[in-house]
Amino acid sequence: MIEIPKMSDCLNFVNNQWVKGSGEFSPVVSPYTGKEIGRFYHSDKNDIDQAVGSALKAFHSWSKTPLKERTRIMFNFRDILLRDIDKITHIKCSESGKTFNEGKAGLLKGIEVLEFALSLQNLDTMGKMEVSRGVSCEYRRRPLGVVASITPFNFPAMVPMWTIPIALTLGNCYVWKPSEKTPLTSIAIAEALKEAGLPEGVFSVVQGSRECAEALIDHPKIKAIAFVGSTAVAKSVYQRGTTLGKRVLALGGAKNHIVLLPDANPELSGVGISNSFTGCAGQRCMAASVLLAVGDVEKHISEIKKTASSQTLGESMGAIITKEQKEFLESATERAVADGASVILDGRNAPAPKGFEGGYWLGPTILDNVKPQSEAHIKELFGPVLSIIRCKDITEAMEIENSISYGNACSVFTSNGALAEKVIEQASAGMVGVNVGVPVPREPFSFGGINDSKFGHGDITGETSLNFWSDLKKVTTKWEKQSDNNWMS
Ligand code: NAD
Repeated sequence: MIEIPKMSDCLNFVNNQWVKGSGEFSPVVSPYTGKEIGRFYHSDKNDIDQAVGSALKAFHSWSKTPLKERTRIMFNFRDILLRDIDKITHIKCSESGKTFNEGKAGLLKGIEVLEFALSLQNLDTMGKMEVSRGVSCEYRRRPLGVVASITPFNFPAMVPMWTIPIALTLGNCYVWKPSEKTPLTSIAIAEALKEAGLPEGVFSVVQGSRECAEALIDHPKIKAIAFVGSTAVAKSVYQRGTTLGKRVLALGGAKNHIVLLPDANPELSGVGISNSFTGCAGQRCMAASVLLAVGDVEKHISEIKKTASSQTLGESMGAIITKEQKEFLESATERAVADGASVILDGRNAPAPKGFEGGYWLGPTILDNVKPQSEAHIKELFGPVLSIIRCKDITEAMEIENSISYGNACSVFTSNGALAEKVIEQASAGMVGVNVGVPVPREPFSFGGINDSKFGHGDITGETSLNFWSDLKKVTTKWEKQSDNNWMS
């Protein structure tokens, strides 16, 4: 069980020091207890100016530091995160509602991205070749300058760790605005970077909500913005940033479909699909949300229900982020019923874990016979709710999958390779799984959806992220006049 930390004040991190934001404070409330566990101070334009100013000052020296030396600091960062992993996990779970195992797994996944960044010193060697007699061309990767990141509540450490290691290792200075619902984790990450030896100004944290994020995007010295959050905000951040001529990659929400075929292994699909929609209490952008049940899959659905029913709140399943979100999920179930669905597993009124009765708890909920295009099919609910849509065949299932605007994940459960291939080819999502409930690619494969789940080009991790966080300078060199007669000689 999670140990709730003592009340802590969450400040801005500028020049490796903690400084209070100029605005009012807001509470940080634990989904486990419904009680205040900390507070953060809202940052205004001057606070952002201070953070960006310190980053600008640090940029010249940091960007000129050899890649090998920057990487050494990031190695230290990894050691510190692993040393403190349990302590950080308790903090991040207390504010986000995750179980201990989920919290730890998220941080470890973030460390995998860090390990990818550590490998750049050996892998990203750029290229140089003779392109004409006595003439060479080469690439030189150059950091952008001061970059920003705005992150959501549901992965307080993993999502920022998608970008912090790569952007810093490439020589950028980085300003992070964490979610106002989960700002406490940023203290641990900033402290770890400071202890690792990161020079003053290279990494900053500004606390706040929408106004703070917008001031950061608008700051004329911010060159690039990585955003992760809901689709409406991702779209507006993309438009706001690109209108100002900035580089923006904005990841949005999701509505992930799973195609379940009668020939699937019932045990494998039972556990895989159940864990996908109940893990992180359904509050992850890769969670299964819609089950496209093709033909007779009754025994598979019983397995899913059996595994989901065995979840224990507070142990194997976490809490919902806010009271309002819990109430929204309960009312969404009512609306689904009004739309013709039946509740075959009801998580409302599931017992709260002992000692955490004030928290925001909701058990797994399965809605059967959901109608395509109803709210339970197309709206991102972001909770442990699985909508089953009955389909006569795989063609109908893929038409339904293709009809949604999101494009994060889609999986198929089958033992038939040709049918799996059909789903892989026809799915509208950017990340596809075969007999995998949460098809998150592992490093070095990159993470990113398509359509309304991502605005901008390339992915947030992996190879294409290198080009997001840097520019390629192309250098063409000749030292002597050449004998051949072409435009380069
Ligand atoms: P959110 O969109 O409410 O907030 C995300 C961040 O945006 C926060 O830091 C918030 O302060 C900031 N923000 C809010 N309004 C803003 C505005 N107008 N301009 C700029 N910034 C603004 O999201 P959330 O509720 O914290 O997180 C859940 C959402 O994130 C879900 O939709 C989920 O699918 C999505 N998500 C997506 C991915 C992905 O990889 N695609 C990963 C994790 C979460």
